[in-house]
Amino acid sequence: MGNAELERVYFDNAATTPVRDEVLEEMLPYFRERYGNPSSLYSIAGESKKAVETARERLANALNAEPGEIYFTSGGTESDNWAIAGTAERAAGKGRHLITSAIEHHGILNVFKKLEKNGFEVTYLPVDAEGLVSPEELEKAIRPDTILISVMYANNEIGTVQPIDDLAGIAAARGVPFHTDAVQAAGHIPIDLKKTKADMLSLSAHKFNGPKGVGALFIRKGKPLEPFLLGGHQEKGRRPGTENVPGIVGLGKAAALAVAEMPEESARLAALRDRLIDGILGGIPHTRLNGSRTKRLPGNVSVAFEFIEGESLLLLLDMKNICASSGSACTSGSLDPSHVLLAIGLPHEKAHGSLRLTLGRYNTADEAEYVLRELPPLVARLRDMSPLYKAGVKTMI
Ligand SMILES: *Cc1c(COP(=O)(O)O)cnc(C)c1O
Repeated sequence: MGNAELERVYFDNAATTPVRDEVLEEMLPYFRERYGNPSSLYSIAGESKKAVETARERLANALNAEPGEIYFTSGGTESDNWAIAGTAERAAGKGRHLITSAIEHHGILNVFKKLEKNGFEVTYLPVDAEGLVSPEELEKAIRPDTILISVMYANNEIGTVQPIDDLAGIAAARGVPFHTDAVQAAGHIPIDLKKTKADMLSLSAHKFNGPKGVGALFIRKGKPLEPFLLGGHQEKGRRPGTENVPGIVGLGKAAALAVAEMPEESARLAALRDRLIDGILGGIPHTRLNGSRTKRLPGNVSVAFEFIEGESLLLLLDMKNICASSGSACTSGSLDPSHVLLAIGLPHEKAHGSLRLTLGRYNTADEAEYVLRELPPLVARLRDMSPLYKAGVKTMI
C-alpha cells in the first residue's frame, strides 16, 4: 500500500455501520415477493409472520432471553423512550423519583428532562474518571419513591462498559425496575439476560451491521410497561404499527451473525483498538485516553489532544478520507462540549479537542496504520496555528 491514500477509512462505527451482504440478502424478498402484512390471513402474510417470529427467536437466542420477551421497535431511540416514559406513566402513582447516569445517550437524557418538567425528580449519578457508575452510589440514591433506574450498558463516546450485573442486581434486590440502553453493547460484547437482572434492555440493528430504523426492547416476562405508541394489536398489543418485516428480518440475521462471530471478532477489534491507542498516545505528545483502558468496548478509541479543536481535526482527517467523530455524533453541529467528556472530568478545552475512532467488521490493520501515519502531522499542523499551544508548551518546559 505504501503511502497511497486509502479510498475511505470508516472509523465511525459507533455512529452507524454498513449492512452486511448476508443480512441484505435475507431482507430483499420481504420487500417484493413476500410483502404481506403479518396480520392478514392469506399465505404470503403467513410467510411474513413466520419471518418476524424467526427473527424474534434469533434475537432472543443472542441475548439468552425468551422470544416472548422481545418487542420490535423503530430503533434505539424509540426503545429508550418507551422504557422510560412507559414506566413513568405506569408507576407515577407509586412514586416520582427516577435514577439515571450523567453520561447517557440523548435518547435517554432528553426523556428524563421532559419528565422533570412534568413533576418527576431525577437523580443523575456521577461517574468516575474512567466513566464508571459506582454501585455504592446507586445503592445510596435509591429511595422509597424510586420507580425506575436506567444506566447504559456501554457508552457510545468513550466506550466504558458498566458493571451492569452489579447495578441491575442492586435494583432487583430493592424491587426497582431496571432498564439499560445496550445499543453499543449488543452484537459487540456478550449479553446474557438470564444472568443480568435487567427488566428492560434497548438495542438497535444499525449499530451491528443491520439496517437502520429497526431495533428492539427486551421486557422481562411479567413486567408491566405502558405502551408508548397507540394503535393496533401488533407485538401482543404493546407496540402497535405494521411490522417493519424486512428490517426485523435483517435485525435477526445481523444478531445471529454477530453473536456467532463475537469471540473471534471482538479479539480482532480489541487488538486493532490497542494498536491505535498505543500508537496515538506514544506518537503524539499532550494526549490522553478518555475512558477506561480495560473496561472498554473492543472497537472504541477516544483520545483528548490538548491545544486543538476536534472539529478542525475532523475536517483535516476527512481530506485524508478518514471518517471519524469528535465527542458525540449527535452533538456535532452544536458548540457545547460533550456532556460525557465533562462528566469524566475533562475541562472544556480538552473536551473540545477529543477524537473518537470506532472500529467495526470491515476495518483492517492497514487502515489503522494509515491513520497512525496521517494523524500526527495533522495534529502538529493545528497546534502550530494555536497561540495557546505555543504559550502552553513554553510554560510546560
Ligand atoms: C445510536 C444510539 C442510540 C440511538 O439508536 P437509534 O437506533 O439510532 O435510534 C441510543 N443509545 C446509544 C448508546 C446509541 O449509541
